[in-house]
Amino acid sequence: MFSGDHIMQTHSSRISGFHNLPMADRLAKLVDISGLTPDAAEHLANTGNLEAAIADSMIENAIGTMNIPLGVATNMIVDGRDVLIPMATEESSVVAAVCNAARQCRDSGGFVTSMSGSLMIAQIQLTQVPDPEFARLRILEQKAQIQQVCDDTDPVLLKHGGGFRDLEVRVLNEARGGAMVVTHLIVDTRDAMGANAVNSMAEAVAPLIAQWTGGRPYLRILSNLADRRLARARATWTLDAIGGEAVRDGIISAYEFAHIDPYRAATHNKGIMNGVSAVVLASGNDTRAVEAGAHAYAARSGQYRSLTHFEVDRDGNLVGTIEMPLAVGLVGGATKSHPTAQVVLDILGVDSADQLARVFAAVGLAQNFSALKALATTGIQKGHMALHAKNIAVMAGAVGAEIEAVARELIARGKVRVDIAEECLQQMRA
Ligand code: NAD
Repeated sequence: MFSGDHIMQTHSSRISGFHNLPMADRLAKLVDISGLTPDAAEHLANTGNLEAAIADSMIENAIGTMNIPLGVATNMIVDGRDVLIPMATEESSVVAAVCNAARQCRDSGGFVTSMSGSLMIAQIQLTQVPDPEFARLRILEQKAQIQQVCDDTDPVLLKHGGGFRDLEVRVLNEARGGAMVVTHLIVDTRDAMGANAVNSMAEAVAPLIAQWTGGRPYLRILSNLADRRLARARATWTLDAIGGEAVRDGIISAYEFAHIDPYRAATHNKGIMNGVSAVVLASGNDTRAVEAGAHAYAARSGQYRSLTHFEVDRDGNLVGTIEMPLAVGLVGGATKSHPTAQVVLDILGVDSADQLARVFAAVGLAQNFSALKALATTGIQKGHMALHAKNIAVMAGAVGAEIEAVARELIARGKVRVDIAEECLQQMRA
């Protein structure tokens, strides 16, 4: 591994013209400034299966790529279809959790999903409006013209069956500088996540709103609280499949804890996002957009709560549900430009953004089931540690077959620590 000893201490971070350099020259400059070793430089120059030219076109100042393991979760049935779930994650146990949960609900049919729609919201903020309620009505009266402007902005979206659907205008009175009038453009973005699509519409409509109301428009951007794009999934776990009533009741108690306590809910929902973000990332979609939406939705009642619910059905089985905003696409962003994302979409075998979001919701529910089951029974560390031990072995310097051997020894000793791993390694190599 490459030590961090050489990190820039004396050089300025102001590098004029850095972004204009070809990617290889940018890397050379970075190596020079940061004093990276030739090994580290060679490591960064290897962009793996993402061509340097593509990486360079995706973000600014690219100097390399960063590989994250891509795993495939097995056993999932979603809406009667067997689906393999590619997941990009650096965290051990995430893929295994989905496999385990899916295996335990396979016999009862797997996951059943649905979607509320594919509507996104773009917000236009209007300030300095002396008569906000009057302005609100003036804007609402112009719905037909607003629709025309929005649809003219994106004829391709229109061709794919999307476009403007509705208009909402809210008056927010809490602002220090007087009331704000906030217009929501509600747009069906079909198979696109839709951020760029609706942002362009908001920018096109804003000057008209200013003209009609005399107010001053500022922000024109989508809301990541995509509460008109909710993905839902449900599943049944029989008592036989999960190991009896005590396990079921433990899972329900764990869920109730998250429902009533935000400290627990944050960790509970983080676990859900372990699954969701991994598959969102693998598909080239925007993890931050989905995460922001999920957490805002979890707090919609005024208290931050669980995104899932667990109950007991009339036959005594455990039933779980999830509902969360899932603004993801099959076109746009990196979904089309990243070659791995394209392969991932082929593996998922979905043909609409709606289907994609529904699979993602099922993954979130599966992940949560496994976490709650582990927490309510053996504790999370047992399963985690087996996988974590391999990371610790690598940290201690194990390579090749040593990784598995050191990990096994750490588990056997019941001490998954890097100092113990170093000791094991020394003994093995002696
Ligand atoms: P985009 O603009 O790249 O692609 C969407 C466009 O593709 C549509 O506007 C439409 O013209 C066209 N299109 C072709 N086939 C389509 C189909 N079947 N259905 C729908 N549209 C079709 O991408 P986008 O989805 O508008 O935006 C997503 C990107 O925006 C992501 O990269 C995201 O990271 C980024 N972004 C996010 C935020 C945010 O979440 N706050 C803000 C800005 C940008």
